[in-house]
Order: sequence, then structure tokens, then C-alpha cells
Amino acid sequence: MYYLDANASEPMRPEAKAAMLEAFDAVGNPSSVHGPGRAVRRLIEDARERVAARFGARGQDTVFVSGGTEADALAIHALGTGRRIAIGVTEHDAVRAAAPGGWTIPVSREGLADLDALRDWLTGGPPALVCLMLANNETGAIQPVAAAAALCRAHGALLHVDAVQAGGRIAADLAALGCHSLALSAHKMGGPKGVGALLLAPEVSAIRPLISGGGQERGRRGGTQAVPAIAGFAAVCAPPSDQDRLATLRDRAEAAAVRYGAIVCGGGAPRLANTVSLALPGARADAQVIALDLEGIAVSAGAACSSGKVQTSHVLEAMGLGALAGQAIRVSLPWNVEDAAIDAFEAAYARMAARMRRPLVSAAA
Ligand code: PLP
Repeated sequence: MYYLDANASEPMRPEAKAAMLEAFDAVGNPSSVHGPGRAVRRLIEDARERVAARFGARGQDTVFVSGGTEADALAIHALGTGRRIAIGVTEHDAVRAAAPGGWTIPVSREGLADLDALRDWLTGGPPALVCLMLANNETGAIQPVAAAAALCRAHGALLHVDAVQAGGRIAADLAALGCHSLALSAHKMGGPKGVGALLLAPEVSAIRPLISGGGQERGRRGGTQAVPAIAGFAAVCAPPSDQDRLATLRDRAEAAAVRYGAIVCGGGAPRLANTVSLALPGARADAQVIALDLEGIAVSAGAACSSGKVQTSHVLEAMGLGALAGQAIRVSLPWNVEDAAIDAFEAAYARMAARMRRPLVSAAA
């Protein structure tokens, strides 16, 4: 099986596994005052400093949570209460579900946020929280977050950034971007599933928790910390590398698919090196995923399928792609992808497209 679905979850990196195995032997509860408790506490605080340093925050402003979904929900709960809310129209469901009824920032055909529209919305209104992701999970589009942060600050608004897909792949620095909070998830970086962090700017770091419990994480997230998972997370906080190799392989896969009739969605935007969204006119996204799976290639649909019904991708729909929004797959290369995977993808895609692509005569009609 060739795994080309890294944006769903990256394969675990060996350094994460090694750090977790070591942490499994730490016996105490990090909240205990005795020696074993203090030893585990030290492990967590060292991990906190590593995560904070990598992403431009202070250790004391870094809150460990269960992953990207919780980090987004906590940020919106803590920073959005009493403020009107705007979210990018292509945000992940983790943000969309936590900010129902918010105003949506439109995007261009390439999937990039319209900051003029955001400026108009911010001008003269009551205090706001704006949510804009750093990199899109379906197309890889990298949003103009630093410019959005400057705009927000000029209008007294707060900016929350979902950096879940960006974290392991591009620079993502809270202070350098100028945003107020940053959501991260370890399993998108080659770390374990079920752990992430919300990083806060110093001026907003005293937040109300979603879960209070025993007052862990300085009262910002109750519950005994997932110590081995946190150790694994910290172990994958090295600066991103190998992106040129990934871009070369992604470009090869993309060019091959285009030769067999694919349309690249959002290909004109600055993008993550590992990601491409490929629409095949006339072919349902879920059918493509199944066809490739049968050939031993794991990719995902930009459009999810539930109870036999194809849902169109809200991301591609917002980009104005019409019917193609239900006909696109996402190919996202993992950190350990090999050339052979691209060869296999090309061969499988060619066979699939020959069977499923809309005949040229109707494409022209
Ligand atoms: N935000 C984005 C952009 C994502 O792609 C995902 C996961 O796919 C999440 C948030 C949710 O992260 P987690 O799986 O850690 O809850």
C-alpha cells in the first residue's frame, strides 16, 4: 500500500516513538509534589519549552490539549466570547463547528482570503475575533496570515490561526505572524494522535478553560496531561526540512494526473509542498478514492461521502469550482514518501482516468 494521505495523519517519525517509549516509564502524576511527580512534571515542562520555542511563543503561554480540534474550540471559546466572529470560508470543520453563525471571509478562485472584504467587515464594527488558517488541508493554500494579523491589530480585533497543517511543513511562528493564538496538532507533524497545543500571545494568555477540572495547564485545561504523547509531540518540533524533495515529487504526481485529464484546484496559490487537490471532470470523488484504494494507493476525497451521498467540498465550492467540488481527490505526500509511490500513483491514475473521465465529447458540450 502506498500512503499518500499525510494531511489526514502523518506516519509517526522514529524520534517521536523513541521519546514516547522513554516517557512510558515515567510513573508519577505531573501534579504530584513528590519526586516521581516532579520528574514527570519536568518532562512536560521541557516539552512545553521545545514546542513554544519552535512556534514563537513563551512556555507559560503554551497549553497542551488533545489536538487541533480542541485547540481551535478552546481559542474560539476563550477569545471569541463577547466578540463578533469572522472565519475564513475554507476553514476546517474544527473551526466552523466552534463558530456557528460567524461571518465568512470570501476567497479567490485560488482559495486565498479576500483581505479587502475583511477590512470592510472590521471597519467601524464592535470588537471581533477573526479565524484564518495558515494552510488549507484540502488544497494546501497558504493564507496571507501576517497581513491579516496586521489588519486585525489595526482594528482592535484578535486573530486565531489554525496552523494544524502548516506546523510541520512551513515556518509557523506566533510572534512573527503577529497573531493572538495558534492551534497545532502533533499527528499532522509525524507525532502521536490525540495531542496538540494552543499557543497564546502574552496579552491574551490568561484564558477561561473549556474544561476546568483539576486546574492543570495553569487553569486553562483541566485533566492529567497525556505525558507520553506530549513527549512525542515535542520530539517532532524540529524546523521543517525536505520540503524541496516533497515539492518535486508532488509536482511529478500533479503533472502526471494533468496529462490524464485532471484539473488542479488552487494550483496558482502558494501551497504546501506535499499537497495537491486534483479534480477529474465527471468522476465522483468517492469513486476515485475507492478505485485508487483497490490499486493500493491511499488518498482522500476533498468531498466526504456519507450514507452513499456525495457531499461536495465546502472549500472547493467556495473557490467557485462548481461541480468539480464533488470530483476532487486530495493527494498529500508523507515525510517518508518514496519515488516508487509516485510511479505507482501515476500508473493507477492513468487506468482510473481512462475508465472514469467524462468523455471528451461531453466535456466540450
Ligand atoms: N484543523 C485542520 C486544518 C485540520 O486539517 C485538522 C485535521 O484534519 C484539524 C484542525 C483537527 O485536528 P485534530 O485531528 O488534531 O483534531
